[in-house]
Amino acid sequence: MVEQVIAVTTIVLTILLGLCVGSFLNVVIYRLPNDMSLVRPASHCPKCGNPIKWYDNIPLVSYIVLRGKCRHCKEPISFRYPMVELLNAILWFLCLLCFTNFIIAGNEMNWLRFIVSCIVCSTLLCVFFCDLDNMEIPEVFMLILLLCGIVLLLDHPSQENIMLKVFGFLGAGLLFYLVNLVFKLIRKRDGIGFGDIELIACAGLILGGYNTIFALVVSCVCGGIALVVLTIVRKHDKDEEYPFAVILTSGIALAMFVGPYVVNWYLGLMGA
Ligand SMILES: [Zn+2]
Repeated sequence: MVEQVIAVTTIVLTILLGLCVGSFLNVVIYRLPNDMSLVRPASHCPKCGNPIKWYDNIPLVSYIVLRGKCRHCKEPISFRYPMVELLNAILWFLCLLCFTNFIIAGNEMNWLRFIVSCIVCSTLLCVFFCDLDNMEIPEVFMLILLLCGIVLLLDHPSQENIMLKVFGFLGAGLLFYLVNLVFKLIRKRDGIGFGDIELIACAGLILGGYNTIFALVVSCVCGGIALVVLTIVRKHDKDEEYPFAVILTSGIALAMFVGPYVVNWYLGLMGA
C-alpha cells in the first residue's frame, strides 16, 4: 500500500514538475537565441505589454481557462506554449517509465539516470524549437548534452559501455563532418550546419554506437520523406536550407526510448 502511494506520488510530481519546467523552456526557447535575459522582464503579453499574473501563468491550466487568449487584449496566445509544456511533461514521464524500474518493477530507482535523462529530453526540446524558429542552435545546449553524456558514461563505466559511447561520439561526429566535406566540395557550400555535427556527436555519446545508428536511420528516412513531400507540395528551391536538427532531435529522442529494443531485436535476428 505504502509503495503504491509513493509510486503514484512520484508519477504525479514528475508530471507537474515537467509541466512547470516546460513553461520555463518556452521562455528559454524565445529569449536565449535573441540574447535576452531569462529572468527579466517578467512574462508579459507581446501585444498589449500587460504583465502576466501568476494565476494566468499556470502551465496548461491557464491556457484552457483563458481559452487561449490574453486576459486584457484578447490577442490569441500561441498554441505552442501549452504544447511545449505538455511535451516536456510526457517526456519526463517516459523517462520515469523507461530509465528506472520504478513503475514496472517496484521501488528500485536510479535517480541520477532519471534526472540526467530528463535534462537531455528538455534540452532536445529546446534545440527542436530553436532550430525550427531560427535555424540556429545556441551553443549552451550542446554543452549541456555533452555534460549529460559524460555523467551517463561515468554512471556505468564498463569497458564495453565506454567503447560504444566513444565510438558513437567520434563515429557520428566524423560521419557528419565527412558528409558535409564531400557536399562542400561538390556544391561549394555547407550541406550540414556545424550545430548539427555537434548535436549528432553528443547524441552518439549519450546513445552509444548501435543506438546512434538507429537514430541516424530514423532521421535520414524521415528527413528524406519530408523533403520529398515538401518538393511535391510546394516548389522547393535546391539551395533552400532546412532545419535538420528538428528531425535529428526527434530521431535522438525516439532512439533514447525505443532504440535499445529495436537494436536488440535486430542483433537477435542477425544471430549476434
Ligand atoms: Zn494582451
